[in-house]
Amino acid sequence: MDHARARAAVAELLAALGEDPTRDGLVETPRRVAEMYAELLEGAETDPGEHLRVSFEAGHDEMVLLRDIPFTSLCEHHLVPFTGHAHVAYVPGPDGRITGLSKMARLVEGFARRLQVQERMTTQIVEAIEREMSPRGALVVIEAEHFCMSMRGVKKPGVTTVTSAVRGVLHDDPAYRAEILSFIQPRGGR
Ligand code: ZN
Repeated sequence: MDHARARAAVAELLAALGEDPTRDGLVETPRRVAEMYAELLEGAETDPGEHLRVSFEAGHDEMVLLRDIPFTSLCEHHLVPFTGHAHVAYVPGPDGRITGLSKMARLVEGFARRLQVQERMTTQIVEAIEREMSPRGALVVIEAEHFCMSMRGVKKPGVTTVTSAVRGVLHDDPAYRAEILSFIQPRGGR
């Protein structure tokens, strides 16, 4: 990211909004906003899939589910946050190798820290799991509230958008998929 350019652009935006960027309360705002975007977008240049490259022999061939991984991402249409939880499940491949639990959280974080739309983030996570782990099945469900929907436009706070991506045996076997989904209750129900 070009910090100097970002600072100048924020100062210009403030001026365009009719503000005086040199007044006391705003003088440090361009720097703060540029630093904030740098943090929110720090996953843009990374390959989050690399977190899955360390795996362990576990002889485990049943579901592994990580539920309620919190994240905050940035809607690329409005540059405001969407925030929620990701649920990530996989069925290990025939070699029974698993990944560290914290690695899945890092995977979600890596794909959240960039300009995003929720649908693409969901697909990117499941595809990274497929690519890096060759599991028998994988499932990603994301529930999020979009500030561009709750604070502007239709102004409906509390609306949750749910997206899912399902691959392999979890796609092909409805009973197996239903079993996993039974562990993922809507947040309002908890
Ligand atoms: Zn938006």
